[in-house]
Amino acid sequence: MHEQASFINGKFIFSVGGVCCICRTAVEFRAERDDEISPKWYKHWFRGSLKCRQCGSLPRERALFNAVELFYPNWKDLRIHESSPVYRGASRRFQDECPGYVKSQFDPALPQGSIHPVKKYRSEDLEHQTFTDSSFDLVITQDVFEHLFAPELAIAEIARTLESGGAHIMTVPLVNGVEPSARRARLENGVVEYLQPAQYHGNPMSHDGSLVTMDWGYDIIDFLSYHSGTSVSLIQVENLYVGLYAVYNDVLVCRKLRSVRSSEEPSLGQSSVDTASLLRAVSEEPTA
Ligand SMILES: [Zn+2]
Repeated sequence: MHEQASFINGKFIFSVGGVCCICRTAVEFRAERDDEISPKWYKHWFRGSLKCRQCGSLPRERALFNAVELFYPNWKDLRIHESSPVYRGASRRFQDECPGYVKSQFDPALPQGSIHPVKKYRSEDLEHQTFTDSSFDLVITQDVFEHLFAPELAIAEIARTLESGGAHIMTVPLVNGVEPSARRARLENGVVEYLQPAQYHGNPMSHDGSLVTMDWGYDIIDFLSYHSGTSVSLIQVENLYVGLYAVYNDVLVCRKLRSVRSSEEPSLGQSSVDTASLLRAVSEEPTA
């Protein structure tokens, strides 16, 4: 568990021993940079830097995997759709160990719904998907929702493709914290309109990076719930010795609830989320 920060071969390196929830074994977590930084900024530095030396995962990837194991320990047996994965950390375990795993990328050059002949991902626009209703038990997105122009369509589409009892589990940087979410860019008749200076994150599909369209705050919980009908929980775990120590390391778990009135499983193609019947069921409970 020994932690240390020092210059080694001209690099400022922080390292700590711990257990990686993705590797399920003792590992070293390490962050590197050129210049020394005050410990008060470590949590910011670590978000994109504190990697597991065994699986290469970042804190947010371990946080997501931790939440998946917590809510869906049987994930290997489930149908999982992951949007825009990289082959590393949590995504790598899903791809290697879950036979029902489907990965998709936003690829305008490839017809929607078709599979890339080499890279084997399915071409999907998260806001207008070609998957049929109730196709998946889990949908995973990792730092995708800050890049969408119509996140309300994406979350509604994700909920549509989920089986009741399933969930959308995601990371997204909640940079605005308790302040309201704010749009940075929007699409007007197909043209990008910038409301804030353009900001980009790395994108494995494009050397230009991905434009950040939204600065989200904790009010994303209400936003997601309103547009999808799912029950949204926010999971925060902070523990340096399991590599969960960074800013914006929250995980959102959006569960598509089963109907409380029916003892039968909802059939495919039929939405199980019916808020009106849920409210009715709750209010009628004393006489039911
Ligand atoms: Zn690891």
